[in-house]
Amino acid sequence: MEQDYQKIISKPLLKWWKAHGRKDLPWQKNSSIYKTWISEIMLQQTQVITAIDYFERFIIRFPNLKTLAEANMDDVLFLWSGLGYYSRARNLHTSANIIKNDFRGRFPRDLEALISLPGIGPSTAGAILSLSNIEPRPILDGNVKRVLARFFGIHGHYSESGVNKKLWELSTLITPKEDFANYTQAIMDLGATVCLPRNPNCRSCPCNTDCFAYQKDLSHILPTKKISKKKKTIAEYFLIIRFEDESFILEKRHNQGIWGGLWSLPQVNTKEDPLKWCKNVFNNSLIGTKKLEVIRHSFSHYHLEMHPIEIHLRGHYKNLNNQMKSFNRNNIHKLGLPAPIKIIINSL
Ligand code: SF4
Repeated sequence: MEQDYQKIISKPLLKWWKAHGRKDLPWQKNSSIYKTWISEIMLQQTQVITAIDYFERFIIRFPNLKTLAEANMDDVLFLWSGLGYYSRARNLHTSANIIKNDFRGRFPRDLEALISLPGIGPSTAGAILSLSNIEPRPILDGNVKRVLARFFGIHGHYSESGVNKKLWELSTLITPKEDFANYTQAIMDLGATVCLPRNPNCRSCPCNTDCFAYQKDLSHILPTKKISKKKKTIAEYFLIIRFEDESFILEKRHNQGIWGGLWSLPQVNTKEDPLKWCKNVFNNSLIGTKKLEVIRHSFSHYHLEMHPIEIHLRGHYKNLNNQMKSFNRNNIHKLGLPAPIKIIINSL
């Protein structure tokens, strides 16, 4: 069976990759296990085209594990600003410190040790080991799941444990024992460039002869879509508290939850009174308020309706703690700010 799978999918994929695969991505140049790790974390939830610039900036600032481990978390989050899913950046920084302290600064090269690090699951660990030519390990990221579900005709959504288990079994069976680094890149590239979520380019696919979905004309049905629940909408005031000296307030968010560890505008639910909140925090008297245009931002589980409101106060704010500080336009450039907050600040 394994032999057959190699013949019908792994070998044609490798041949295709040698002619058409991606070979000059920034993390493939002078590659190292460190670069592969950073790129694999960035590519979770992010497309290659978006990740490239972020990766290049990140590697210039943190060229190796030591520089990343010794960095300030704010500097790491600053370079991640706009990429979203900020727990990835926090986990990179935490993992770099774990490797520095518990692995004597040497990047782990076995599956178990890799999975013990925050932010690294079985697929990312498999990708790191295979792409770094250490040992053949199966991977199962979103692109690979789609290719396998179509090629083998697996019905049912990935969130069903039986489906996920089956896909892991298949991924394990088709991962070759040799040339596995190129094969891993090949199956990722096929999912990202040919076996696309919508309108896969089956005619130019090297595996179309034996692909279940193509032969049965089911590529629009497979993989089985998840029945999506309607996302709820949360409405919040985002307070732009401005003082007479042109400074404004930013608040550092807790590490957990959305925008964790980033600097943001103070937030109050729209059912509450933002002026009352302000009065409780600041002694300065009010000059006036102004509502700005509403911004909608979507997260994986909900929509956020952002109601920015400028609140002008007399005097200035004396920083009392590290969580809430006053800034001005000139000293926010190195802060990790969520993309919609940057838009609001830039509109002032
Ligand atoms: S033939 Fe089409 S559906 Fe099948 S693996 Fe190739 S691109 Fe995907």
